[in-house]
This record gives sequence, C-alpha cells and structure tokens, in this order.
Amino acid sequence: MADHLSPKNRSLNMSLIKSKNTLPEIRVRSVLHRLGFRFRKNVKKLSGTPDIVLRKYNTVIFVHGCFWHCHEGCKKSNMPKSNTDYWKSKFEKNVQRDINNQNTLTELGWNVFTVWECETKDLVFLEKKLLSLFEKNNSLIKNIR
Ligand SMILES: [Zn+2]
Repeated sequence: MADHLSPKNRSLNMSLIKSKNTLPEIRVRSVLHRLGFRFRKNVKKLSGTPDIVLRKYNTVIFVHGCFWHCHEGCKKSNMPKSNTDYWKSKFEKNVQRDINNQNTLTELGWNVFTVWECETKDLVFLEKKLLSLFEKNNSLIKNIR
C-alpha cells in the first residue's frame, strides 16, 4: 500500500507530534521548503541547538518564542506581574544564553539569524522577513533567484 503522504508532508506530520517542534518553527520550515531550501533541524552539536541549520550556506536560524526570549518591544514579551524577581533573573539568563550561543556560532563562521514567534503568524510577512535576512548573504539569495 503506497503511502499517500509526500516525504515533505510526512516530516511535517511527524514534527507536529514532537513537542520540540513548535508551530512557529514549523511555519519557518515550511516557508524555507517552499523557497527550495534543504536544512537540518535541532542540531545538538551546535551551540544552542539551532532550530534550523542550512549547512550549505553556513547559516543557522533560531526561532525564538517572544515571551521566553524577551523579544524587545513585543507585546508578547510581558513581565509577569507576580514573582517579578524570579522572572527577571530567568529572562536575563535566557537572553544571556542566546547572546553567548550566537557569539560562539558567529566565531565559528556561521551566519546566525533569529526569527521571532510574532513574525511567523503571517506567512507572506514571514517569507519577506526571511528573504530580507538572506539578502545579507550572496549564496543564500542566489539559491532563490
Ligand atoms: Zn515578538
């Protein structure tokens, strides 16, 4: 009996089952697929376990939740009203960890991009956002054109 799902759809289905793959991540991956990119997911060998790794282009993409990673100026990045000290220190640690991971990867020669959760709601906007990030890297943009 032939499997009616294409490999792409099957991997999307499987990624929906694993809690590690959040909806924002799935959205970013589906736009990248549509643009013709191949990538690896959740690469543990690399600092911070980047959500998406475009090895051919020396590029990693982190898809960050606005709340946990403190997206500056974002509505979703609210400080909880109670236990403020606890949250403040937790958020500071998260942000510092993100900066450290980013620096480590940059030093190793990776292009590091961050896509925020709130930027993934609208797929048209998301595609524009990814393209604008990729403008900074010739080999990436050549792949699209
Ligand atoms: Zn946000």
